[in-house]
Formats: sequence, C-alpha cells, structure tokens
Amino acid sequence: MQSNKKICIGIDLGTTYSCVGVIQHGNVEIIANEEGSRTTPSMVAFHADHDPLIGNSAKNEAALNPENTVFDSKRLIGRCFDDPNVQEDMKSWPFTVVSDAGRPRIKATHQGGVRYFPPEAISSMVLARMKETAEAYLGTTVTNAVITVPAYFSNAQRVATKDAAVSAGLNVLQMINEPTAAAIAYGYEKVEGKKNVLIYDLGGGTFDVSVLTIVNGNFDVRSTSGNTHLGGEDFDSRLVGYLREEFRRQFPAKDLSTNKRALSRLRTAAEKAKRELSFASQASVIIDSLFESIDWKVDITRARFEALCSDLFSKTLEPVQKALRDAKLDKSQIDEVVLVGGSTRIPKVQKLLQDFFNGKRLNKSVNPDEAVAYGAAIQAAILGGDNSLPLLQDLRLTDVTPFSLGIEVKTDDMAIVVDRNTTIPVQKNQTFVTQFDNQTVVAFNVYEGEHAKTTENNLLGHFMIQGVPPAPAGYEMFDVTFDIDKNGILNVAAVNKSTKKQNNITIVLNWK
Ligand code: AMP
Repeated sequence: MQSNKKICIGIDLGTTYSCVGVIQHGNVEIIANEEGSRTTPSMVAFHADHDPLIGNSAKNEAALNPENTVFDSKRLIGRCFDDPNVQEDMKSWPFTVVSDAGRPRIKATHQGGVRYFPPEAISSMVLARMKETAEAYLGTTVTNAVITVPAYFSNAQRVATKDAAVSAGLNVLQMINEPTAAAIAYGYEKVEGKKNVLIYDLGGGTFDVSVLTIVNGNFDVRSTSGNTHLGGEDFDSRLVGYLREEFRRQFPAKDLSTNKRALSRLRTAAEKAKRELSFASQASVIIDSLFESIDWKVDITRARFEALCSDLFSKTLEPVQKALRDAKLDKSQIDEVVLVGGSTRIPKVQKLLQDFFNGKRLNKSVNPDEAVAYGAAIQAAILGGDNSLPLLQDLRLTDVTPFSLGIEVKTDDMAIVVDRNTTIPVQKNQTFVTQFDNQTVVAFNVYEGEHAKTTENNLLGHFMIQGVPPAPAGYEMFDVTFDIDKNGILNVAAVNKSTKKQNNITIVLNWK
C-alpha cells in the first residue's frame, strides 16, 4: 500500500515547559532536546552581545541575568496590558513589561540595544526551538505541526499563538485543545466501549477541564471549562511570598524586594521545594549567599505549603462542577478522571479531586508532562495522512465552542445566539429588532464570552446594515444567523426582513 504521509509534529507550548512529539515506526516518540530532556523550559534569555539562549540554557541563566530572562509569555499572549491578570503577574516578574498602544511588550537588552518584544515573539522563539529539536531527531526539515492551546483560551489568545507558530516557520495544520490532546493520549488504543472521561489538566500557568465521551475511536468533547490564569506558577508565587516574609522576620534590617537576582533565586528554590513536597512531608530551601553574603536555609512543611495554596487548590473544583453541569452529567456518571499537567502531582490537589468524586480512584495512566504533546503528535499524524496505523484511521474528534457567542443589544447587553459548549459545526438563528425610533443604521457587534455585559466580553468583529426604513423602535426586524463550520469559521449574517438588505462577516475562530 502506498502511503502519502508527510512528517507532522505535535507541539505542546506550555507556560513553563514545552514538549514535542512525532509518530515514528508506529509509535509515538516524545523527542528529547539536545540536553537530553523530554520537556524544554519555555524561556528565552537575551544578551547584549550574542544570540538569545532558549530553553534549558535560558533557565540556567535566570539568576544571573534576571531582567533579560523572559518566561510566562503564555500568560501575556493575546491579552491587553491593562488586563488585571497581567498587572498582577508583573509584580512578580523580574523582567519589565510596558504598554505599546494597550498591548504588552517585554523589555530586554538584546544585541547592544534595548528592545521591546511582543509576547508572540517569545513564544515564537520557543516554538522554533521545538521545531529544531524535532528536526535534529528526524534529520530532516519539519514544517507541519499541530499546536495545542488551553481549551479555555479566547480567540485572541489563539490567533496570537498561531501567529507565533507561523513566524517560527511552522505550518499550523490545526490547533487543538490541550485536554482534548490529553484525552487522545489516554483513549487511543485503550478505550473499549463507551466511556465518559473528565480530563483535569493543571499545568504551570493554566487550568483546563474537559468532559468527553469516547466511543469506538470517536472523541466527543461535551464541555470544557477552566481558568487561563491558574497553575503551578501561582503556587510558586505563594511560596515566594511566604519565604520573603520569613526572610524579613529573620533579618528585619535587610530588604530583599529590590534585589532581582535574589528574588529570581528564591523563585527557583521555591519551585524545587514545591516539587519535593509532592513526595516528602518537609523540604529545605537552601540558597548560598542569597543577599549580602547571607547563606540562607529554611525548612517548609507540606502542611504549610497546602495552607498557603488552599484557596487556589479549591478554586479548581469550580470549573469541574461547571464542566459537569454543561455536559449534563452527574459526577457519578464519570468513568475516568484523568490527571494531566505537572501540578496534578501535588497530593492535596489529588485529595480534593478524589473527595469531590466521592473517593473515586484517579486515573494516572498518562505521563502528566507529556500527554498533551503525545495526543498532538497522534492528531498531527492523522492530518498528515499517516495511514500506516489502523487505529489512527478510526479516530474522530468533535469539539465544542468554549465560549458563548452573541451580539450586542441596547448599549452593552450580550444577547447569546450560540451557547458555550455547543458542538460544532452548528447553525443558529435569532430575530433582533431596532432599538431606537427612526433608526436607519443598525450595527451588529459580535462577541464571545459569558458576561451579561459586552464590555466584559471579547469583541470578535462587526458590520452594519444601512438604509433601514425609519420606523418606531422595535418595528424593523432582522434575521441573524450564526453559522460555524467544521473548521471553526464563523459566519454571521443579518437580513432586514422588510427591505431584504443584508450584510455579513466571516470570523476565523481558532477553536478547531
Ligand atoms: P506543565 O505545564 O504540565 O509542564 O506543568 C508544569 C508545572 O508543574 C510547573 O509549575 C511545575 O512546577 C509543576 N510540577 C512539576 N512537577 C511537580 C511536582 N512534583 N509537584 C508539584 N508541581 C510540579
């Protein structure tokens, strides 16, 4: 049999670590980088006199060159500078973020001068490094890729991620949701019969929950929820806050807060201690010459760490409940709760989730750090026409709209036309009327989001219909159709019933 397969890779672009996989000789291979690690820190260190360092080498430099070592670009991508999450994160970053016409730009000294990088540029460098890692392993140029994004990413965040991939020289075959990719990793080969599966994906910076029904190789996402700003980095920040306080208590005359290098070392030590506390009941933070030649050692217990983060851990259960509600499933109807993401190693996180599911045993069958790239590699092979594996030919994926879609009525009320978690493709119609007496021009502003006020949601696009006959408010009617095709292309069309005048807009939604 002739195979027309192209080489296609799957990339998990993580907040803290990224991972790349490919199907080779019928197996999924997670590709190690040149240092031999299967995940690569999503970090870039800029220098005055040479090219930026990316990945492990950037991470190793973080303490020496804190102002120019950039991480967390995924927490900035597709967001505005004024976003409260951005403002909060900026307080703990050693690098500087400024506003350029409302968009965040990261300040760094690069090859002799000060430069301002959009977050996409940083993500693009990390993606380029993942591409190179794959190319070194495969011995050939690779351009085709499936890239994963958090299920709860907005359209703007998805567009920015895609732009980053394109400027890294990648041809994006598809962007798939991280928990969906993890579900493929879990369900591929294993699931017999029908199973309702909840994927709980707690990574470095984002949290996603997806509920899927898997039956005969069909992966039907039924609902998705999450928080694009909750993960291991937030736990690190809590620990750093505690350690700073502890240092201040021990050395009241010393002020750590202005010393970026000390703060960066404290953060690295905090993350290490956090990891240890997943396996031990106590960990030591030991930093030589932390500040003014003080060699500092402090012990932290697991109980203390749990107390510091307890509200954040509990917060993860809200999207779980929401996803179950939206999937119209009771928790007793979930056959498997699958853990994904490095932060699911935290025992307290597991305990809360297990208690929520009335003591159900959690499924730890996938590698939490690699499952997303693993599933992305499988989807990439399917899209690349790899017909060497019979199982791949049977695999089908249907996803849902993560956010509701609608148009603005009155001044800023959101009228939902397509509810969140609707399976796509879909077509929905609704009738709208004029709001003012003698209104001859009607604007249709299209939004995504769950808030009752459009000002709190995301504007996707707009169009107008002119030449509407003057009439009392509410008299002139418009048929509005939202049509989303299988590729996530949204077409919004409106027709004035009396004049048949119409207009429309096409918006590429990057959910598929
Ligand atoms: P991911 O985005 O899935 O790669 O997750 C990375 C996050 O998982 C980082 O915040 C890590 O600090 C965290 N992580 C990795 N291993 C552990 C562990 N053993 N205990 C707690 N957190 C961990």
